[in-house]
Amino acid sequence: MINFENVHKAYGHHEVLKGIDASIDRGKVVCLIGPSGSGKSTMLRCVNGLETYQSGRITIDATLVDTDDASIHDIRTRVAMVFQRFNLFPHRTALENVMEGPLYVLRQDRSDVRDRASDLLNRVGLGDKLNAYPGSLSGGQQQRVAIARALAMQPTAILFDEPTSALDPEMVGEVLHVMRGLAEEHMTMLVVTHEIQFAREVADSVLFLDGGRIVEQGPARDLLHQPRHERTRDFLRRVT
Ligand code: ADP
Ligand code: MG
Repeated sequence: MINFENVHKAYGHHEVLKGIDASIDRGKVVCLIGPSGSGKSTMLRCVNGLETYQSGRITIDATLVDTDDASIHDIRTRVAMVFQRFNLFPHRTALENVMEGPLYVLRQDRSDVRDRASDLLNRVGLGDKLNAYPGSLSGGQQQRVAIARALAMQPTAILFDEPTSALDPEMVGEVLHVMRGLAEEHMTMLVVTHEIQFAREVADSVLFLDGGRIVEQGPARDLLHQPRHERTRDFLRRVT
């Protein structure tokens, strides 16, 4: 469903992605792991057009991710992103945050949007926080609002960029729980994470990125239990 073919990306003279080949199949969870600075966020950002790439191809359902406005709009309505720092609108309630995209980007009917937003907040366990402002919510709750907001766009895939890294440890579980639920419902997900245990339990496959190259990719079981490359072994030793 999401395909990278020999994707190169540089910031100025600094080449950050050095020929990425990868594919994420529909309904699968792929975890992207690797050291800080290896290009994980850049890879995600190229998928939904937050960054442009210089060569190669990224396709989503066979549609080329291009940089013209129409293409970007199309991609953003189909692929949602959840960030490390929740990026909620501080002056809007949880419900209003979730309604924003369907109302103003998809231009759907307000009362339908409200009903669905409220269902989604229920689903992430925040049915009693519809009218709360982000500032009054914990980090874990804010991240669950952000996930509900992503779902409200009825995306075909969700990209997660270290969704639990900014959270206090006791809040990591509630966010992973919601993500596990999405995986069980076969949402297509590309997840940058340092939660190796989560990757072990939930990922169908894992990509290990180092220095802008995919060093190793394969089924989560194989890669996380019997990595073939020394660099992968090294990384896993350090994060687990
Ligand atoms: P990761 O998410 O794996 O930590 P990133 O994709 O954020 O890695 O960054 C990869 C490399 O690209 C790093 O060396 C980083 O400093 C550089 N980089 C990231 N964003 C920018 C930017 N907007 N401008 C210049 N360099 C950047
Ligand atoms: Mg990053």
